[in-house]
Amino acid sequence: MAKPMKFATKLIHAGIHPDPSTGAVMTPIFQTSTYAQTSPGVHKGYEYSRTHNPTRTVLQDNLAALEEGKFAMCFATGLAATDAVMKILKPGDEVLASSDLYGGTYRLFTKIFEDFGIKFKFLKIQNAADVEPHLTAATKLVWVETPTNPLLRIVDIASVSALTKEKGILLAVDNTFATPFLQNPLTMGADIVMHSLTKYMAGHSDVVMGALVVKDEILHQKLAFIQNASGATPGPMDCFLVLRGLKTLHVRMERHCQSAKEIANWLYHHPKVGHVYYPGLEHHVGHAIAASQMNDFGGMVSFTLKNDSLPEAIQVMEKLRVFTLAESLGGVESLCTHPASMTHGSIPKEEREKNGLKDTLIRLSVGLEDIEDLKEDLAQAIG
Ligand SMILES: *Cc1c(COP(=O)(O)O)cnc(C)c1O
Repeated sequence: MAKPMKFATKLIHAGIHPDPSTGAVMTPIFQTSTYAQTSPGVHKGYEYSRTHNPTRTVLQDNLAALEEGKFAMCFATGLAATDAVMKILKPGDEVLASSDLYGGTYRLFTKIFEDFGIKFKFLKIQNAADVEPHLTAATKLVWVETPTNPLLRIVDIASVSALTKEKGILLAVDNTFATPFLQNPLTMGADIVMHSLTKYMAGHSDVVMGALVVKDEILHQKLAFIQNASGATPGPMDCFLVLRGLKTLHVRMERHCQSAKEIANWLYHHPKVGHVYYPGLEHHVGHAIAASQMNDFGGMVSFTLKNDSLPEAIQVMEKLRVFTLAESLGGVESLCTHPASMTHGSIPKEEREKNGLKDTLIRLSVGLEDIEDLKEDLAQAIG
């Protein structure tokens, strides 16, 4: 048997084969809604593009391989993928979620699914000990991000999954910040990996998409049924764009990590900077877990100013020229975000502050520009 492909080879080849009809090396964009049948019900596995589309199939097969899973399902957005996971639950079921969460996920849970009778409890989760006291007979799912957004907190995936497995509860990990280049939650015992492919995976800030990856056949059947029945599937052009982006994920992530590390260290030593949040810094809570479960520490860095002044933090964000002030992350270009008013504006201020997210926090997505230009930009903006 051939040896399993290494990660970089999988990015470029897993699930991807020259098109049998033409030999096209790159996956064609099958821009079609329907497929001819030779007799009613006799077809080549494709009936209607909400259910299946050949461009999406290739992307899904590639993602399943990258995450060490068996099945991947793509959705129109990351939130549509999360929405599909919630739909396997029933009224009365409880979800334990980490309190440091993407704002849109929090909004989906509290503003949509609470109304359907699903109960959510938000906790500071670092390991199984934080979860165990809150489990009840109704707990069906634990939902975490690691590193979290925007405080880059770390969840010990193996610790939490040992507990959820023992109790027969599902563990879902939003792997958007890490990507499979840095960690594979399924190999650490998670049941579901969720991605906003919009970010590092597609990597060029030109497409919005989400995915779920699982190993279990029954779980796959349930989620694939929802994917088709609820219908939030992406189009073939977008699947092509994500496939194209993925081919360079390893090269991009290496540079994202290298530059973010340098910027985190530089900020750490800057006299006007207060706290720096980066899992690669030794003082960072969870650094040791990050070092053991991740291959590197990622491209996201958050920080506050020493004087904690909101007007000054806003001035820094306004002055940045190479970093663009915008929502999102994970593209080739550097972005700067004000979580309190942008990505996390949908979380009430008191909830944000309870969780340690200050209104003065600045979040950076460190892109692939020259590191000297990035540091110079930060230097002139911070002053
Ligand atoms: C962006 C993001 C999402 C939501 O994904 P969309 O593609 O914007 O719907 C979920 N989780 C994290 C960590 C994100 O950054």
